[in-house]
Amino acid sequence: MIFDKNYKILAVDDAKDSQMLLAFDLQSVGCEVISAGSGKIALSILATTDIDLIILDLHMPGLSGLATLEIIKDKGDWQMVPVIMLSSSDGENEIVSALELGASDYVVKPYISKVLFARMRTALRLREKTKALEDLAKTDFLTGIKNRACFDELCSNAISQAQRNKFPIVFAMFDIDFFKQVNDDYGHEIGDKVLIAFASCLAECFRDYDIVARIGGEEFAVCLPNTLMDEALIACERFRVTIAKMRVSLNNDTNKEVDITVSIGVASSTSATLDMTNLLRQADIGLYHAKSNGRNQVVDADQLLDNAIVTIGDFSEYTEEEKHFIKARESESEHANEAQGAFVIEGLEIEIGMANVLGDEQLYKDILLMFYQDHAGDVIKLSNAIENNDYESSKHLVHTLKGVSCSVGAMQLFEVTKLLDIAINEKNEASYAPLLKDVVTELNLVMQNIDTYLASATDS
Ligand code: GH3
Ligand code: MG
Ligand code: MG
Repeated sequence: MIFDKNYKILAVDDAKDSQMLLAFDLQSVGCEVISAGSGKIALSILATTDIDLIILDLHMPGLSGLATLEIIKDKGDWQMVPVIMLSSSDGENEIVSALELGASDYVVKPYISKVLFARMRTALRLREKTKALEDLAKTDFLTGIKNRACFDELCSNAISQAQRNKFPIVFAMFDIDFFKQVNDDYGHEIGDKVLIAFASCLAECFRDYDIVARIGGEEFAVCLPNTLMDEALIACERFRVTIAKMRVSLNNDTNKEVDITVSIGVASSTSATLDMTNLLRQADIGLYHAKSNGRNQVVDADQLLDNAIVTIGDFSEYTEEEKHFIKARESESEHANEAQGAFVIEGLEIEIGMANVLGDEQLYKDILLMFYQDHAGDVIKLSNAIENNDYESSKHLVHTLKGVSCSVGAMQLFEVTKLLDIAINEKNEASYAPLLKDVVTELNLVMQNIDTYLASATDS
């Protein structure tokens, strides 16, 4: 079988015979083909149909192949669709332009179908790997819900939107009660099973447009856009009750089940300034209170503030148990970094990258190779884009690099790229140069070390 799926291909060529030949060849290998006789028609089809790959003739009257390509690569939704150009044999300059504009590859007419299929396969495979990598970067590996990085990103968008539209927004923090005991009593594997059940219950109990994420070991958070405190409290209380009733069975025949409870702190934009750190912090204070008040309850952190029971940032106002709770959390997150990976590449936190692929070492190494191939050139691309004030390209490059560096475990690179990403989003041009310098230094270091590692891995 030439292709592993029935891909939907958009074949764009003004010559009727070419169109028919392409359709015939592609259908014979199981592709669904939509033909377009001009760039304009191709764009209208793209607007209404999900396409897996585009074959685009360079020479067309009206909107040329290059002009069509430029529009496709300029539009967020279509950018990721691979495009293979069809060109005449003497069109070298145009081919170069097409590749620079973002075409995946080209095939010279009259094409050899075997070559066309091979190039299509590579382009489709790369697209799928990139997509998988992007999804991985956003997902918590154990529970499959969003991870912290994704939560932060979606929430800052939600907060900006709330600010613009003057909509209320609520944050809730969840921490499973006495979870250490679950691990101690039944083992880590059952602990993990409980976390998975908890996460899926959380995703089910809240609305589709609430942002639900695992933000730490047994800590979860939900952001509820366009929601008032009272509504959020009802939702959280309903969830608390559902969790108290939930039973997770043990993996053996003892018929025993684990039950848990959860403590929840809730804060709304009416009490705190509209800033994510503040809102989360406020919700966290509610959570401490729920813990010190007997657990298994929902605490309205706005109310706490109103009653001035606690002052944000003033540690002296916490009770002894709250202080203990805060310290325990801090040491927990430190321990999480101590796990050792199977091999070492400087600049990469292997255990994070491996965890993202469920510990599959071979897959991780394949992903490292792809990361190297796809992003070693980013130093030059990014420097050029920023130097030429090319806002869209800079934004896209930095954003992608941020996501993939996180998923391969290049955390220092992730941190510096994140800062540049923020600066670009805020159009804070004064800080581009120093931040770019940090990204370039770190990216060079990471790529060099991956290169050395890959070379030694092939040698041995
Ligand atoms: P409380 O929150 O009610 O104060 O008590 P706790 O026992 O839940 O508190 P603590 O935060 O001290 O313990 C959390 C435990 O969660 C410790 C850690 O071993 C466990 N944990 C963190 N991440 C994971 C994970 O991915 N899988 C499993 N099985 N356990 C985890
Ligand atoms: Mg806990
Ligand atoms: Mg905890």
